[in-house]
Amino acid sequence: MRVEAISGFGVKGPAAFLVEIDGRRLLLDCGEGPDNKRRPDLSGIGTLDAVLVSHGHLDHIAALDLVPPEVPVFMTALVHDLAGDTLTRPTSALPLRGMADILGLRVTTGRNGHAPGGVWLHIADAAANESLLYTGDVSRESALYPFDMPPPATLAIVDASYGDYDEPLDIGAAKLVAMAGEGPLLLPAPADGRGLEMAVVLARSGAHVRLCPAHRHIAEAVIAAEDEVLTAHGRAALAGMLSNAGPLDAGAAPEGVMIVAKPALGSGLGRELAVKWRDEPSVRIAFTGHVGSGTLAAELVGEGRASFVRWNVHPPLSDLKAVIAAIAAVEVLPAFLDRTKLPALYAALPQARFATSGVMASVPESAPR
Ligand SMILES: [Zn+2]
Repeated sequence: MRVEAISGFGVKGPAAFLVEIDGRRLLLDCGEGPDNKRRPDLSGIGTLDAVLVSHGHLDHIAALDLVPPEVPVFMTALVHDLAGDTLTRPTSALPLRGMADILGLRVTTGRNGHAPGGVWLHIADAAANESLLYTGDVSRESALYPFDMPPPATLAIVDASYGDYDEPLDIGAAKLVAMAGEGPLLLPAPADGRGLEMAVVLARSGAHVRLCPAHRHIAEAVIAAEDEVLTAHGRAALAGMLSNAGPLDAGAAPEGVMIVAKPALGSGLGRELAVKWRDEPSVRIAFTGHVGSGTLAAELVGEGRASFVRWNVHPPLSDLKAVIAAIAAVEVLPAFLDRTKLPALYAALPQARFATSGVMASVPESAPR
């Protein structure tokens, strides 16, 4: 078994990992961004037998058009349904939590706690008695999306987006609740991610939440999807929030917590409102995730017009440590972390057997170690 990060090691960049296992060549995710529409270079990748997709965020699926059309692509039904225009090809279904036979390989999935319909992937080579675990993006802290702890594997690619950062979500959530109590607050966020999580937590704190049409659409789709997509508490909280949430459009007056899609404000309603209220300091703007360089979001934060309050959607160090301990891999590739931040992570988790390059290979049982 051999794993190669085509993209996703040493950089907060798009996910694309090549896995050679039991004679098959699989690509795990094929995304674009989050900065400057960066895309993986698949030019020298050779033949592919299938693509397995962890979840529907653009940095995991938006470069699937680079994959030849005859290569089958697998993702959960909900990821497929929510992908909309991003997806221009048919896909085959992955279970949300269960097992599938893909090209003769046993693939096990579990919910990633990060995005609606999102999964981690465990791929076994039964003959060689070895396996790979790919977490994609994961979180143990979501109020909405359940997280299943992944099983042990020989090699692992884990979501190390936050490096050695170790503050729990509660701290960021408390900051946003406080901001919401001080007046109108504009919160740009991915509609198929933390946007709805923030809506639920802020609504529970008593804030008047208003949702853009994209967030409302995703909330309705997630509630209508199979039960296991949401935690039981999350389902009730989401339905309650949705029934009380106010509408939001381009003519809206600034009031309450206004949650809009497109976290970088590249286009759409969020951008319109941010531009309209740019010179109205009574409307606070807060970004809660990766602020892409060269975006309006970066501009507003850079000039002090907007603040940054992290809302965890990746594991802080304590959770990363627990996930790595559960997988108990021989080698772990820390994904989605800029290389300048890798040394601090290596130092913070000395017991983890981290890869120091973007390539990992298992040592056959019979070979001298
Ligand atoms: Zn993601």
